[in-house]
Amino acid sequence: VTDKDIPGFYRYAIGDVQVMPISDGAMSFPLPDGLVANASRAEINAALRTAFLPEDKMTIHFTPVVIRTGGKTVLIDTGNGQAAFTGSKGAVGRFGKNLADAGLSPDAIDLVVISHFHGDHVNGLLTAEGAPMFPKAEVIVPEKEWAFWMDDARMSAAPEGRARENFANCRRVFTTGLGDKVRHYTWDEEVAPGLRSVGAPGHTPGHTAFVLSSAAKSLFIQSDVTNNPALFAAHPGWHLMFDMDAAQAEATRRKTYDMLATERMRVQGFHYPFPANGFVEKHADGYRVVPAPWLSEV
Ligand SMILES: [Zn+2]
Repeated sequence: VTDKDIPGFYRYAIGDVQVMPISDGAMSFPLPDGLVANASRAEINAALRTAFLPEDKMTIHFTPVVIRTGGKTVLIDTGNGQAAFTGSKGAVGRFGKNLADAGLSPDAIDLVVISHFHGDHVNGLLTAEGAPMFPKAEVIVPEKEWAFWMDDARMSAAPEGRARENFANCRRVFTTGLGDKVRHYTWDEEVAPGLRSVGAPGHTPGHTAFVLSSAAKSLFIQSDVTNNPALFAAHPGWHLMFDMDAAQAEATRRKTYDMLATERMRVQGFHYPFPANGFVEKHADGYRVVPAPWLSEV
């Protein structure tokens, strides 16, 4: 550990299951125009100020999760990948180092569960050289996500730019990198012991969240139902530029956050600030995430 590094792993328990958020880092950039389609810069700055965050700046955090359940070590989403470390000057692509700091090697991962096919979730499936990052792991992906992104006709019809590039990236990762050796799962399926897939469409067509249950305790692993909760839990009606079907994403967000607040269920969020978990309460016109307290033993 150098004076630059702050530990990027964490651990807590849900019943008998160990949950380990492992940071892939965070990317900060000047607040772009159009980040939120239906909120002004002044409104976004007011939300940032409310959350004690700097104005005119956006920080996106990336936190894959390792769970140890039923004798298996399961990774949910993978981060931006080793190759992103150099390109981002070390801001992201930190998952591998933080995994090692947590005492795990890539060989220890038995199963990788992917929530959706954006690069910040799938690129970590490959090393910087393009080889499988988790050689002993089975990789499973949402059936609906596969059907959408691996459809060549849809790829040809997609507009140039970010949309088309994501189709190409899916082929780079899954076909070139993994040789299409992935299994498809459906919604409402037990994908690992105690881990159930939940359809959460809108961010992408096959976007999937998860409920982890053990010994009468539950955790909702929300994937990208919201990005940074300071903006999108507080304002569930705001439409992030990365949500492919903004109206459907908003409906998913409202339904999910209403459930989390009513059930008082703990939530883990891929784009929450590290360690990326807490509890949801209703607040003003939206919701507020209350970070879960640190515990020395789990
Ligand atoms: Zn994401």
